[in-house]
Amino acid sequence: MSAVKKIAHQSANVVVGVRIRPRNSKEIEAEMPVCFTPSDDELNVQELNEDGNVVKNWSYQHIFGSDSSNSKIFHEVGVGLVESAMDGFNAVMFMYGQTSSGKTFTLFGGGDTEGLVGHSLKLLDEKINLSKDTEYLVKMTYSELYNEEIKDLLSEEPNDNLKIIDDPNLGPLIQNITEIPFGSYQLAKQNLEKGEQRRHFGVTNMNAHSSRSHVLVRLTIESRKVPFKPGGIRSTWGKDKPASISVLNLVDLAGSERSGKAGTSGTSLKEGSFINKSLLTLGTVISNLSEGKEGTHIPYRNSKLTRLLAGALGGNSKTTMLVCISPASGNIAESQSTLRFAQRAKKIVNKVKKNDVMDIKMMSVRM
Ligand code: ADP
Ligand code: MG
Repeated sequence: MSAVKKIAHQSANVVVGVRIRPRNSKEIEAEMPVCFTPSDDELNVQELNEDGNVVKNWSYQHIFGSDSSNSKIFHEVGVGLVESAMDGFNAVMFMYGQTSSGKTFTLFGGGDTEGLVGHSLKLLDEKINLSKDTEYLVKMTYSELYNEEIKDLLSEEPNDNLKIIDDPNLGPLIQNITEIPFGSYQLAKQNLEKGEQRRHFGVTNMNAHSSRSHVLVRLTIESRKVPFKPGGIRSTWGKDKPASISVLNLVDLAGSERSGKAGTSGTSLKEGSFINKSLLTLGTVISNLSEGKEGTHIPYRNSKLTRLLAGALGGNSKTTMLVCISPASGNIAESQSTLRFAQRAKKIVNKVKKNDVMDIKMMSVRM
C-alpha cells in the first residue's frame, strides 16, 4: 500500500478572454471601420457590418475593449493564476492572435506600460514578502521556440537546440536549460531584459523572427508551510523539503496568420512549414479536445510546443487563453478565425489538482 493520500481532480474549463486592441494609425488613416466591439454588458464580442449593425455575437468569459489597460486585464485574469500557482496548482496563460494584434504588448508590455509578466512577477514578490507562514523557492526559465528549435534565453553562453526529455517524476522538461533563482521582481525583470537581447542576437529580420517564434516564461514555485516562523524566499531547501511544486507558464505564441498570407519576402519554406507544425498541432490538439469524444487521439507529441505544454490542454493545469484581435475591417478574416479558435478552446475541460510533493512520484506535475 502506498502512503500517498489520493486527492480528487477537479474539472475546470479553459478560461478564454478576448482583447480587442485600439485601431492602429494605419487602420485609422485607411479609415477602416471598426467591426468588433464589446457589448455593453461585456459578455459578447459584437461583430458589426459596415452600417454599424450587429451581425453576430461571440461570447467569452472575459472581453476587453480598446480602453482596457494591461493592469485591468491582469486583475481580471492574471491575479488568480499567480495565486493558484502559489497555492500549488499548475497555471498557464497563452497569448494567441495574428501578428500586430497585441499579444506581446499584453504579455510583456511596452514603453512604461507593464505587461502581464511584469505584473505577475511583482505580485509574486509582494506575496512572498508578506507571507507569514509559507516559504517559497522560485526558479525561472526563459526560452524561445523557433523553427522547432528551443533556445535558452537566460544562458550566458549560447545554448541552442535544446531537447525535451520526459522526466519520469516531473513530466516533459527542457534538458539543460538555465534555471535562475527568481530573487525579486527587479532581478527577474533584469534577467528577462537580458534574455530579450539574446533573442535578437544575430537575427537579420527581427520583426519576422519575433512574429514566427513562441516565447515561454516559466516559473517553478516550490513551497512549504512554516507555522512557527515568518515565511519568505529561500535559495535552497537544505535538509527541508517543499510540500508542493507547481509551474506557472506564460506563453507568447507566434502569429496565427496563415503562412500564405504572411508569406512575406524572405520566408523560407523551412520556416513556414515549422511554424505550421507548432501552431497547426496546437490547433489540432485544441480542435480534437473541444470535440470531447472519448478515445480521440490528441497529437501532443507532434510538435515541441504541444509536447511541452500538454498538461495545459486537457491535463492538470488552470489554463487561460487570451486571444487578441484588431477591431478593423481590414483584418476581419483573421479576427474571425481567431474568435473561432477561441470558441473551441473554451470547450476544453482540464483536470486540476494541487501538486503535493507526496504525489509527485505518482504523476507528472510539470509542463
Ligand atoms: P503582436 O505581438 O500580436 O504581434 P504587438 O503586441 O507587438 O503585436 O502589437 C503591435 C503594436 O501595437 C505595438 O506597437 C504595440 O505597442 C501596439 N499595441 C498593441 N496593443 C495595444 C493596446 N492595447 N494599446 C496600445 N497599443 C497597442
Ligand atoms: Mg509579438
